[in-house]
Amino acid sequence: MDVWCAIRTYPKHAQELGNPIPQEPVFFLKPTSSVTEFGQIDSCEGDVHHEIELVLKIGENLEPVQMTIGLDLTKRSIQDHLKENRLPWAQAKAFRGSAVIGDWIDYNPMASYRLELNGNEVQKGSVIEMSWTPQELIDKLSNWAPIKQGDVLFTGTPSGVGPLTVGDEVTASLYIDEECILSHSAKVV
Ligand code: ZN
Repeated sequence: MDVWCAIRTYPKHAQELGNPIPQEPVFFLKPTSSVTEFGQIDSCEGDVHHEIELVLKIGENLEPVQMTIGLDLTKRSIQDHLKENRLPWAQAKAFRGSAVIGDWIDYNPMASYRLELNGNEVQKGSVIEMSWTPQELIDKLSNWAPIKQGDVLFTGTPSGVGPLTVGDEVTASLYIDEECILSHSAKVV
């Protein structure tokens, strides 16, 4: 299982970090061994930002078959430093525990999701707000990448990313037609 991640799929999030809105989706990878469950998030001395994302499991015909919510944890100041120096992002995105993934449910294109930080909503997004549909993301990725059945795709984060500090509690929830069908919490330690 490989873990692919799309970036800047929500124009508002690209703008909040001062990034151009790409014409074609851009991807990076996280190591499989960076995958962890909700429950506890290591604050890594305060540099970790939350990015809630819809996460897809890719099926036999390279289509989204399952989905869940996940956190693409990002060490933002390290990422900024690497970006400034035009270096790869691995240290900022592929560290231990950086891919938080919830329970899998059947894929539904009507999905939307929210992240609460200490009870306050900080991020929300939905499939219909993305620049590309999940199938379009998979199709474009499969043009050049060796993606295969069972791989996982983080689909990019909506606006509202921000830092996590020790003692914070985050709750990620997935909705279909306003009905909450999945919710996971984690404590920042
Ligand atoms: Zn992300």
